[in-house]
Amino acid sequence: MQTSGVNQQSGVHHIDTAATQQSSSTSQNHPQTMSLGQEATQQTGTSMASTSSTPLTSSSRLTGSTPGDVPLVRISMDGANAHNNTRAEAHGSQESAGSKKYEGLNTTNQALRWISSLALENTKGAVEVQATVHEGKLLISCNKNTAGLLEGLKASFQDLGKITGNERNDRHRQNISSQLLDESGFAKFKSAAATQTEKVSANDLGRQMSDAEAERVKQQVGPILDTIQNAAKALQSGDDSQINQYVKVVDSQVHPDKNKSLVEGGTKKNDEGKACMHAEQSLYDYLAKNLPSDKSEGPLLIPVAGVKRPCAVCDHVERSAASLQDSPFGESGELYLHRASNRPGVVFPGIQGISEGALGSKSNVDTTVNNLLNGQINAQSHPVINGSTDTDSEHSSSDSESEHKANY
Ligand SMILES: [Zn+2]
Repeated sequence: MQTSGVNQQSGVHHIDTAATQQSSSTSQNHPQTMSLGQEATQQTGTSMASTSSTPLTSSSRLTGSTPGDVPLVRISMDGANAHNNTRAEAHGSQESAGSKKYEGLNTTNQALRWISSLALENTKGAVEVQATVHEGKLLISCNKNTAGLLEGLKASFQDLGKITGNERNDRHRQNISSQLLDESGFAKFKSAAATQTEKVSANDLGRQMSDAEAERVKQQVGPILDTIQNAAKALQSGDDSQINQYVKVVDSQVHPDKNKSLVEGGTKKNDEGKACMHAEQSLYDYLAKNLPSDKSEGPLLIPVAGVKRPCAVCDHVERSAASLQDSPFGESGELYLHRASNRPGVVFPGIQGISEGALGSKSNVDTTVNNLLNGQINAQSHPVINGSTDTDSEHSSSDSESEHKANY
């Protein structure tokens, strides 16, 4: 068993975020909650540049200057390496992500992670899967081969009892069976999440929020878990009409020839180019374009989770969005983005679409992309994590399993 000494007495244990929040008394008191806004708020203005920056040399902004274009950035291998190496030198490399226990709001991320694992397992060519919940549906997206994502997910659910030999995926299959599909297991799972969520105060949520707004956020945990359960049941049934009712594949990938988003009904030509919008940014783009008409009730809780932690570029976009007043994910925005971890992955080389929807405007995109290319990247102030798979120890009451054991 691995023990870390983090907040054992309170029963909450979240090394993953606590390790990067050493100066935050709020997160130490309630480390089970971590939203993007918490850190983004601290980084508004010039503080994001507080550590030495390494420009992404040979990287460039490709498009996005005219309406309708999806902004693209090209990050060279040299640029990615320079950034990642500088970061590793500053903070140490090969640091284990540690372990964490999913509680309260984080249980929504946890259940989304189980489903993402199974979706990725059977979707040939996909690099990453991320998922969220919106308007009673599970939204799911991947980096490549979105066209095969739903079939891959369905195939995994039709073979839920299979032992694949992948420890992490097999565990997630078991969790789906015992905590989502089994009614008494789900009742316990949901009830525990509700009890844990009750302890969360407005101050814990990482962005300015009234008590009433915080209450509204907290009350969404149960319905979100219900939606995830509905999606799991539909996928298990194999009934396409049910699946369509509860599961939606979201695709904002960028086609390199057209430089535009293919949100609805787009055809993928994945073999024609390497440009893509990473899965989480596809989700954000969709959410930003499908905002609730009534925002008087307070922000919508948007838990997002996948197999891997956000790469440094996606993380940078997320945090920038959370710090912008005029972003739907900003302090006054309709969407409250909740990640269970705030430890970003590395910068990957290649061409990547940037979600203008998440950032709110062209000028916000310009600022964000310029910061990115100049090396003013949020991830610069974080250690390099050993492996890109997101922390995965939720099955263990002792929180003893570290990420690298997940073997994915
Ligand atoms: Zn990414």
